[in-house]
Amino acid sequence: MVDVIIIGAGPAGLTAAIYALRAKKSVLVFESNMVGGQIVNTLDIENYPVNPHISGYDFANNLKKQAEELGATIINEKVVSIENDTNKKLKTEQNVYEGKTIIIASGLENRTLSIPNELELVGKGVSFCATCDGNFFRGKDVAVVGGGNTALEDALYLSNIVNKVYLIHRRNEFRGDTKTVDQIKTKSNIELVLESTISSINGENALESIVVLNRDGSMRTIPVSALFIAVGKKPNIDYLNGLINTDESGFIISDESCKTNIEGIFVAGDIREKKVRQLVTATSDGAVAALEAINYLNNN
Ligand code: NAP
Repeated sequence: MVDVIIIGAGPAGLTAAIYALRAKKSVLVFESNMVGGQIVNTLDIENYPVNPHISGYDFANNLKKQAEELGATIINEKVVSIENDTNKKLKTEQNVYEGKTIIIASGLENRTLSIPNELELVGKGVSFCATCDGNFFRGKDVAVVGGGNTALEDALYLSNIVNKVYLIHRRNEFRGDTKTVDQIKTKSNIELVLESTISSINGENALESIVVLNRDGSMRTIPVSALFIAVGKKPNIDYLNGLINTDESGFIISDESCKTNIEGIFVAGDIREKKVRQLVTATSDGAVAALEAINYLNNN
């Protein structure tokens, strides 16, 4: 039995761990993927106070080190369910754990296009992370799909490595920042394929081509070695089994106190329903959720 169970070892979860451990509470952190969460894929963080430039990888490693030096135990097991008994129960694929409080900081997962071959070709040309996999396609032709900041930044990053980038977006206006769109337009090896969706992904053991369908009904086959999918993220709430109230998109409903509808269960980071999802708001949530959990523990 521990004082605080934290689900997710991203910036929100690890900040919560630091606050709880400094208050002398026992803490277990659960993470089924890489420690650090989405920020690991950011090449250069320029908007986190004090450090004008730090890579996401270094940021995550420093945060992990800080939490572990305070005594954090990070358990690499996938959480499959939580229960609200006298104490809180958490089941992973391997074990059952008990805690007096839970902080949900499990972040978001990649949205997919939901078309055939997409998941089958992951690791064989289809990727959800340009900064992780871009280098494998040095000198080749690749495609990026999406119109937000992630897709724009992926296209810019890839344009410096690959031969040509096709940036495919379903509308004729981008959702991402104007400044980044302007940068894209200066790149001679980025071709914008607008008002278009991907209708098929072709290849057996490796990606060979994609077919795009334009709003006017025309189809075009584009030979590419890689397709980087950047169509946003969604919360993974399957393991909550309806216990925690969410909005219609699956984000956990809470206010600035990070409390959920269940006493002793708190939420922090991108999975919380909120307007601004940034690194600084994730770490802020982690601190608030931990302080609320500490308060709950001291009064129950
Ligand atoms: P996002 O802003 O939600 O954009 C997702 C994009 O994918 C949208 O353009 C959307 O098209 C498109 N899309 C969604 N479903 C699709 C589908 N089924 N088929 C084709 N296209 C689809 O996601 P994001 O780019 O990952 O960014 C997430 C958040 O992180 C945003 O708040 C973003 O500003 C932030 N972010 C910030 C930075 C930075 O500050 N440097 C970097 C990266 C991300 P529509 O536009 O038509 O809806």
